[in-house]
Amino acid sequence: MKRARYRNLVALCLSDGGIGFSSGTRYIHFTNQSETLLKFFENEIRKFSDAKIHRQIKERGITLRVFDINLVRELLSISPNFRTKSCNNYPKCKPGCLHELVDSASWPIIHIPEDLFGTKNDKTSFLKIYASCDGYPSIFPRSGTWSPIERIVAIVCHHPKLKLRLSELLDDVEIPHTIKRYSLEMRSRDAIEKFTKKIKFLDGVEMTGNSRHWKGYKKNDILFKIVKSYKTRFEQKDSESVLKKLRNL
Ligand SMILES: [Zn+2]
Repeated sequence: MKRARYRNLVALCLSDGGIGFSSGTRYIHFTNQSETLLKFFENEIRKFSDAKIHRQIKERGITLRVFDINLVRELLSISPNFRTKSCNNYPKCKPGCLHELVDSASWPIIHIPEDLFGTKNDKTSFLKIYASCDGYPSIFPRSGTWSPIERIVAIVCHHPKLKLRLSELLDDVEIPHTIKRYSLEMRSRDAIEKFTKKIKFLDGVEMTGNSRHWKGYKKNDILFKIVKSYKTRFEQKDSESVLKKLRNL
């Protein structure tokens, strides 16, 4: 199917990008702090468009904008919306937004059609891109519980229907996970090892400032630390010793 070509771009737009509207014209945008992801977005755009890619420095990263009405039209034929905030959140949705009521809140209707995917590999690569933008690995010392270490791989998503669709894709590639209010979480050894084997993050994508212990590390490096930590003995269980050991894995 022809529109499977847009799969990567759809993953980027549904996570850290979208379709905006400015003085009567629609444009594609993507915001990130990671140069790896910004470059990846530029490369995807270049497969379809020669339009200038505008670059703007913002508080939460660099925003790239592309004004290409044909490409916008292709993307909107795949999903009627790329906005993943609820309709009443600031800024409110535009008139004409196709939305639906979910748990008494209004949400933009979003599609990730099955014909974007030919094989299971297509699904894992879609999830890899989405998770690289809106996902993270986390490992940190914990006290007062049976395990001295907390390990999580999460894909963040506030949109209730999109979250279920992403959960379906994880099911399709056989990765166990639990559905939380604002995320999909992998916490068991089995789930995290399967995520690492089948999906991972895009190479070079860094942890953001939200990570207390691992800011500046690559997401994949932390993922590999988690996997190694299962095979490591932690003799000293206090936080500092655990953290030191984790840093050296
Ligand atoms: Zn709406």
